[in-house]
Amino acid sequence: MLDQSNELAAWDRDHFFHPSTHMGTHARGESPTRIMAGGEGVTVWDNNGRKSIDAFAGLYCVNVGYGRQKISDAIATQAKNLAYYHAYVGHGTEASITLAKMIIDRAPKGMSRVYFGLSGSDANETNIKLIWYYNNVLGRPEKKKIISRWRGYHGSGVMTGSLTGLDLFHNAFDLPRAPILHTEAPYYFRRVDRSMSEEQFSQHCADKLEEMILAEGPETVAAFIGEPILGTGGIVPPPAGYWEKIQAVLKKYDVLLVADEVVTGFGRLGTMFGSDHYGMKPDLITIAKGLTSAYAPLSGVIVADKMWQVLVQGSDKLGSLGHGWTYSAHPICVAAGVANLELIDEMDLVRNAGETGVYFRAELAKAVGGHKHVGEVRGDGMLAAVEFVKDRDDRVFFDASLKIGPQIATALAASGVIGRAMPQGDILGFAPPLCLTREEADIVVAKTADAVNSVF
Ligand code: PLP
Repeated sequence: MLDQSNELAAWDRDHFFHPSTHMGTHARGESPTRIMAGGEGVTVWDNNGRKSIDAFAGLYCVNVGYGRQKISDAIATQAKNLAYYHAYVGHGTEASITLAKMIIDRAPKGMSRVYFGLSGSDANETNIKLIWYYNNVLGRPEKKKIISRWRGYHGSGVMTGSLTGLDLFHNAFDLPRAPILHTEAPYYFRRVDRSMSEEQFSQHCADKLEEMILAEGPETVAAFIGEPILGTGGIVPPPAGYWEKIQAVLKKYDVLLVADEVVTGFGRLGTMFGSDHYGMKPDLITIAKGLTSAYAPLSGVIVADKMWQVLVQGSDKLGSLGHGWTYSAHPICVAAGVANLELIDEMDLVRNAGETGVYFRAELAKAVGGHKHVGEVRGDGMLAAVEFVKDRDDRVFFDASLKIGPQIATALAASGVIGRAMPQGDILGFAPPLCLTREEADIVVAKTADAVNSVF
C-alpha cells in the first residue's frame, strides 16, 4: 500500500498538471501530494487512512456531504439506461426536464428557463453571450459592457477570468480587460473611511457604480455581476442596504443584474437562493456546485422570463441559438442533480445551513474573536471566515509574504480539519457541508483555536 502510494505520488509529480497549484513546488516534491480515497458525511480520508473533517466541502460544493448512496444510485442507474444523449434541437431526458422544472420551482420569482452547462465558468460565459445577444436583439449593439467587482470570483475562463477581480487569476495571462470593468468591493471591514456606517458604505459603493456607469455612458453598460456574498474574495457579506442601493442604480440605467449563485445556490445561506436572502431580483442566475453537490459536474444559467421573451424574438429573427456544449444537460449529471435536490429537501439541509451556521459562527467568534490578531469573524449561513490582522486596533494587515493565512490553514489541516486559506488577504474560510452538526462544528472551532494559537 505504502509502495503504491509512493509510486502514485511520483506519477502525480511527474504527470498531473494540477489546477490552482504552485507548479514548481509541487513538481519538485516540496509540497505534499495527498491522494484522497473516500468520504462519509463531513469526513474525507486519504489512501493512508488519514481522516479529516472537510470544513470547506471540497470547494464549497459537497453540500449534502460525502457518500450519499441516493445520488450514486441515481448516477449508476442513469449510466446503465442511457449514459449520454445530447440536448440539441429539443432533445432531453426525463432527468434533464425534471431537473429544469425542479430548479424553476425553487428559484426566485420571475425565472422561467434553465440553460445547462458543466462548470460555473462556462455558465458565466453563457451569461455574457446571452447578455450581448439580448442587447443585439433589442437593437442596441453598443450596450455591451459588464461591470464586475474587485474581489468577485466568476471563473477561470478567458472572459470569466476577466470578470474575476482577484489579481492571482489575472497574473501573466493577459486576459481581455474590455468590455469588462471592475467597481468597488463591498468589503466593509476594509473600508478606507472608517467613520462610515454600513449603510453609508453601501451608499458609497452604489455611488461609485453610478459614477462608473455615467463615465462610460449608460447606453454602453449592459450588466452588473455579483455574488450575493463575496466568496473566494474573502467570504464577505454585503453591508446593510447594499443590494437595495445597487439595484436602484441598475434600474435607473436599464442595466441587467446577474447573481452569481455558484456558491450560494441551493441552501448555503439558509435560503434556497442567496438572491432571496438579500432581496436581489436578478435577470440571470449562475448555478453550479450545490446543484449536484459535486457528485457530477453540472452548472446552469437561470433566465428571467422577461429576458427569455427577448431571446425568443432573437431566434425568430436569426434562427436557432448558436451556443451549445456537447455535455449540456448530460444525462448522468442531471440525474445526480435530481437526486441531490430531493436529498436536500429530505435532509432539511436548507434549514440546517441557517441554524447550524449561526451556531458555528457564534462559537467561532467566542473561541477566536478576541485574539489580538483576529480582526473579524464574519459570514452568513454555512459560510464563515476569520480575518487575521497585525494590529486589530489600527487595522494594520500582515505582509502577504508572511503567508499567515496559509500557515494557519496548514496547522489546522495537520490537526484533521480542512479550512481554506482564501487567495487574497490572511483569511481562513469555512464552507462546511450543509449537514454539519453542532458536535462537528464544535470540533472545527476547537481545532481552529488551537491552530491560531500555534501560529501566533
Ligand atoms: N462563480 C463563483 C461564485 C465561484 O465561486 C466559482 C468557483 O468557485 C465559479 C463561478 C467558477 O466555477 P467553476 O470552478 O465550476 O468553473
